[in-house]
Amino acid sequence: MTLTTIFLLLIGLIVFVFFGAFGLVSLSEGERRAKNISFGIAALGAMTFFLAASLPTSVQLVVLGVVLVAIVVGIILFFIPIGRVEVGNDLPNTRFDEREIMFVRARLKPGTLEYESYYAQHPEHKKSDERTREMPGLLSLDAKFANRYQFASMDGSFFLTHALREAVDGSVALERTKKTPEELTAFLKGLARYYGALDVGVTALQPYHLYSHIGRGTGEYGATIPVEHRYAVAFTVEMDFDMVGTAPKASISMETGKQYVEAARVAVQLAEVIRLLGFEARAHIDGNYRLIAPLVARDAGLGEIGRMSILMTPKQGPRVRLGVVTTTLELIPDHREPNAALIDFCNICKKCAVNCPSRSIPVDERQEYDGAMRWKIDPDTCFRYWNAVGTDCGRCMAVCPYSHPDNWAHNFIRWGIQRSGAFRRAALWLDDLFYGREPAEKAAPEWVRIE
Ligand code: SF4
Ligand code: SF4
Repeated sequence: MTLTTIFLLLIGLIVFVFFGAFGLVSLSEGERRAKNISFGIAALGAMTFFLAASLPTSVQLVVLGVVLVAIVVGIILFFIPIGRVEVGNDLPNTRFDEREIMFVRARLKPGTLEYESYYAQHPEHKKSDERTREMPGLLSLDAKFANRYQFASMDGSFFLTHALREAVDGSVALERTKKTPEELTAFLKGLARYYGALDVGVTALQPYHLYSHIGRGTGEYGATIPVEHRYAVAFTVEMDFDMVGTAPKASISMETGKQYVEAARVAVQLAEVIRLLGFEARAHIDGNYRLIAPLVARDAGLGEIGRMSILMTPKQGPRVRLGVVTTTLELIPDHREPNAALIDFCNICKKCAVNCPSRSIPVDERQEYDGAMRWKIDPDTCFRYWNAVGTDCGRCMAVCPYSHPDNWAHNFIRWGIQRSGAFRRAALWLDDLFYGREPAEKAAPEWVRIE
């Protein structure tokens, strides 16, 4: 057996093992299209090289030459700075008023003082909000994707987060801990993970993190929110990959509700621990935030704000929910490194925008809003869609290439995406090939499919 024959057999074996293994991963993830393509490439690719190994040496040399050129070109492209983007300033100048957000506006009742005063100041929102109110509503049994059992599950979760609203704050122990900020930061991060958080980060609290006025939750509607705390602990909890894949059907809402509960539970526990150590602390949970959680989490080093205007983490992408605790306790902030590779990937990808049923996600590049470069979805049309179908949709989250599970196969792709513009473009092409430009919705697990 010649050296060229051995090389060709070896390449065939590598192709077979790599794509075969990827096929098995896809099988375990329930990705039928990716599984079929992987097994197809494993079989055909390996067979091509095995056949080439049986041909005359001159032909074998040509095949090996082509492979070598492809490898060299791939390596050169890997280091060429294609797609280099300037992140620019992404810190807003002013504080956002919580009364402006769609969840708060949707609750305004015609005839109330709050309703009259809000639309007197913001007549531009009235028509759009009235159209939204005409829809059946979130978790309404008249909505398009209504399912009594799945909606009841989400309502059960909302019931619990609502019950926890009063537990976000409390009295502070008189005796203060004497431990150093380093020791306490390490302890609280470890504790958050122990309680169930996935990633944890700390940031110095900035005025732009906080809403300017209360819109919902505990406290008086319209009251000014003071900047009292100095630090914030932000954390993520992971949403289940299979449940998210069913978006925009009701099972994703079950998962949303479940993870809001998890985030609220961890935040409430963590805030109470800090108060027992002698410092003020407040948990920020679903329906009772005083701040914009994605901005806090980003500045705590947990990820970047992507095209769909929410936090994207390096390993789970947008497939997370957030919790935050703010405090007067001095902590050591994490260093935030803006992720230009993610911005570049979002620039070329646009998969969320293509798949958004309400076309609420922009397809162009980032624009400047309030001094900060960012993408901004249309929250009105997005929320109106939720109210039409009854779920919180999440189709954008389900199709995002960053949402793939945290395993060796997808982490290899993420590693390349982070380092090379050429790899990002190849990775997007492969994602479209293996999963489809408009990926199919997944079926919910059997036990969820009760009608
Ligand atoms: S789907 Fe693509 S464009 Fe949208 S957030 Fe994910 S990576 Fe960015
Ligand atoms: S949640 Fe649904 S409607 Fe809203 S932006 Fe995402 S895909 Fe579009």
